[in-house]
Amino acid sequence: MPLHKTEAVVIHTIKLGEADKIVTLFTKELGKIKAVAKGARRIKSRFGSSFEPFTQINTTLFEKGNYNLLRIRQADIIQSYFHIREDFEKISYGLYFLELIDKFLLERDVNKGIFSFLIDTLSHLNNNDELKRLFVIFGIKFLKLSGYQYRFDKCISCGDSPLILFFSAYKGGLICDSCAKNNRQGLLPINKGTAEYLSNVQKEEAATEETADAMNEAVEIIKGIFADIIGRPLMSQEFINKVKG
Ligand SMILES: [Zn+2]
Repeated sequence: MPLHKTEAVVIHTIKLGEADKIVTLFTKELGKIKAVAKGARRIKSRFGSSFEPFTQINTTLFEKGNYNLLRIRQADIIQSYFHIREDFEKISYGLYFLELIDKFLLERDVNKGIFSFLIDTLSHLNNNDELKRLFVIFGIKFLKLSGYQYRFDKCISCGDSPLILFFSAYKGGLICDSCAKNNRQGLLPINKGTAEYLSNVQKEEAATEETADAMNEAVEIIKGIFADIIGRPLMSQEFINKVKG
């Protein structure tokens, strides 16, 4: 019965039977896994509130006959990121990132880079209120870590930088006015200022004085990119839209 000790972040949970939970964890040492927490739904459970989404824990897991479903022996909270839970908009952005991680990573796919990224994202979300800026910065960072690179400086079709009016998530970058004449399917409108802002964020250049419009448009572009990769909008995106009213 091999034991695994690892740090982890709770992605989500579902009920199992009368008193148990199946917890999806993104662990540092084992990647994304599912594990049963016996008795976790009892009022006096020894696990307390360890399995609320976003919670960072130290946990001990063991295998019991099923490689794909571990058991949780112990879970101690390192950080609960409770400020995220106090604000609907923070919750919605937080859930968006948890859903991304759940969708992008295969089970047992160990990725310490993305694990640190998630901890960093949750800490910033917990302590900052510039949520759109965070979403853009961490959205671009997540794409880079996952091996996706988009062009925000030149037209992806002709390699030139004439009049830029559109962005194509499918093609992977900006589309200029003349290249867009052939086919406008799936193109998102983008302003020059937004493209420059995204390009600066991607190059990790010093903070720019982007306008509120550029920020809003950048958020839509990044959501468009993730929806394109996953094949449909994320569930938590609807939640973000609802919270915004
Ligand atoms: Zn072009």
